[in-house]
Amino acid sequence: MKHGLGATPLLLAACLAHPFEPAGARPFSPPPPLYAVWWQRMETCAQITAPLDRIEWYEMPGDQFATPDGPRWGWWGPPHAIYIATTHLSDERLVEHEMLHDLLQTGSHPVVFQTCGVQEPVTASRGLLRMDVQRHDRRPPVQP
Ligand SMILES: [Zn+2]
Repeated sequence: MKHGLGATPLLLAACLAHPFEPAGARPFSPPPPLYAVWWQRMETCAQITAPLDRIEWYEMPGDQFATPDGPRWGWWGPPHAIYIATTHLSDERLVEHEMLHDLLQTGSHPVVFQTCGVQEPVTASRGLLRMDVQRHDRRPPVQP
């Protein structure tokens, strides 16, 4: 664990007060046409249907962006915000991973992530997705 409850009270308080919004996010709409294909793939796999246009897409400049739990390539925030680093906008698995969070409306990783092939990285270069798993698992509940 990178931080405990006692180590970073200010950070924790900030997280709880404001659901995390990455700094420098640039909204883009509509998403690339390819995203509709990926969305449909996740819909089919998860057996959940939802309108793709409910998603608020944000591009994060650069290769990664800062979050309370370290650098990330992608981030999902309830209810329907997805943040993707610029250089990963065409990273199918990453985008599908965040899409699945939105379809399921959960920041956790039920087995369907595995079923749909977007849970665990297949190569070492996908290591950040493993960190993403830890991030979600430790995420405080979002207040409605
Ligand atoms: Zn995730």
